[in-house]
Formats: sequence, structure tokens, C-alpha cells
Amino acid sequence: MARTYVITGAGSGIGKATAERLLAQGATVVGVDLKNADVTADLSAPEGRRDAADAAVDAAGGSVDAVIACAGLSGPTALTAAVNYFGVTELLDRIRPALARSEAPRAAVVSSMASLQPNAPKLVDALLADDEEAALAVAEGLAADAETANLIYPSSKRALSRWVRREAAGADWAGAGIPLNAVAPGIVITPMTADLLATPEGAAAVDAVVPMPLNGHQPPESIADLLVWLSGEQNSHMCGQTLYCDGGSDVVLRGDDVWSFADEAVGTALAEAYAKLRA
Ligand code: NAD
Repeated sequence: MARTYVITGAGSGIGKATAERLLAQGATVVGVDLKNADVTADLSAPEGRRDAADAAVDAAGGSVDAVIACAGLSGPTALTAAVNYFGVTELLDRIRPALARSEAPRAAVVSSMASLQPNAPKLVDALLADDEEAALAVAEGLAADAETANLIYPSSKRALSRWVRREAAGADWAGAGIPLNAVAPGIVITPMTADLLATPEGAAAVDAVVPMPLNGHQPPESIADLLVWLSGEQNSHMCGQTLYCDGGSDVVLRGDDVWSFADEAVGTALAEAYAKLRA
């Protein structure tokens, strides 16, 4: 039987490309967006998320096979933190009971390579504490100062990738048989980046902080294909990952060793377990 997908941000860019891919495969797609969607909804506040979840589950007939959360903003405002973090986490939590009714439920969200960039730990912590009022107060403080406003977007994506990692192995997701993962694009050619890429100076400024040695700026389909796989039945064991599909920016920025945490784990349960193995 055809699978049913709920896709946020389906009206533009990556969400639109993903919806088009799935529709071409014969899937049923319920698009959620501010406009041009099956469900018109504003994911920036709790009421809009609740209404969006209820309407999307209704439109899907009560059972949802996969949720793909693409809706997002990139401006240096508190609204960006609300949509990029709570517009994903709260919506997923609300749709989860309908997902659990599927034979092969999946959830995939769009983070960013910006999750690797400098951020505001106070905002990341406030988001991860799931206290929206407190988090938005921190974000508004950052937004008020031009020096810190640009930390809001990377902070929202760092918190989102950490939320995925924190939740994915727990009872609600892995325990319910639902793979939960994220993709992290580099610079994708969509309306979100159109202004930035419109001038050679803008493009050079972007390229200085988002190195993409593999094929440069990417089309939305390069992310859509990954989202289709992550949310399809083939994905049975990927859990809590952020997949950097970013032309190489993760590799360039983080280098060849993201495993050394284990070398430094002296005194932790992990180090004790290794010591026993070696004995
Ligand atoms: P886009 O602007 O083309 O699409 C984003 C969509 O989200 C729009 O249709 C918009 O209406 C919707 N949206 C925004 N606020 C909303 C709200 N309050 N309620 C409901 N819908 C809302 O941008 P895109 O490039 O396709 O971005 C999709 C996702 O990919 C975002 O989460 C973005 O942060 C992420 N991303 C984009 C890039 C890039 O270079 N374009 C890179 C990394 C990550």
C-alpha cells in the first residue's frame, strides 16, 4: 500500500522537492506550510503546532507512515529559534502517536552544517530544556545585539541535532520502532539562500564559512533523496544520526578524527568497560 507522509515546509525549497519525489513514487503526501499546502499552519507557536498536527493526522486518515520536518527560517530573530527547534520537536511529539500506528514508521528532520558553527550555549541549553518561554527570552536577548544575532540559527540547529541524538534511542522512538534522524545540508540553492548567493560578494562570504569542495552549492534534490531514504521502509537501523550531506564542509571543519572522545573517556563507564575488555 502507498505510504503516507507528512512534510512540513512542503511549499518551498527542500520540502517541496521532497514532496515532489514522493508524489512521483505514488506516495500520499500531506504538506504543511504557511501557504500553498494541504494544511495551512504556523509552526512558530504551540497553538499552530497543535492545530497543524491534528489537521495533518486527520488528512492522513489517522495513521502516518513518516514525518519529514523541513520548515525553517534563517533570519537572526527569536522566531527562527521557535520554528527551527519547537516547530520540529513539538510537532513530532504531537504526531508520534499516529506514527506509532504505522507498520513502518519513520521520522526525519532537516538540521544544517550550521550545527557545527559557533553558537550560543545558553540558547542551545534553553532549547534542549524544552522551556519555550525561557528559550525565546534568551533568543530575544541575542537578537537585540548585531554581534550575537547570527548565533541564533546555528544554535537552533545544534539543539535540534542534539535533540534527535538524545531522543532517538529512547522508549518513544527506538522503543516504538521509529527511526528518528536528521540531515545536515551545506548551502542549498533555494529561496532561503537566494539573496545570499545573488552577488559574488555574498557567495564568497558564504563560501568562507561553508567550504564545499565536493561539487559546491547543492540542489534541493540532493537532500530530498536522502530524506526519502531516511523516511522509507529500507531504513530499519539508522538511529539518532545527523547525516552531513554538505559537499564536505563537516569533513573540512571537523577533520579526520571525530572518535577521540573515547580516548579521553578516562574515569567514565566507557573507559571502565574497555579496561575490563583489555584485562
Ligand atoms: P525555504 O525558505 O525554501 O523553505 C522553508 C519553508 O518553511 C517555506 O515554505 C516556509 O513557508 C516554511 N516555514 C517557515 N516558517 C514557517 C512557519 N512558521 N510555519 C510553517 N512553515 C514555515 O528554505 P529551504 O532552504 O528549503 O529550507 C528547508 C530547511 O532546510 C530549513 O529547516 C533550513 O534551515 C534547512 N537548511 C537549508 C539550507 C539552505 O542552504 N537552503 C542549508 C541547511 C539547512
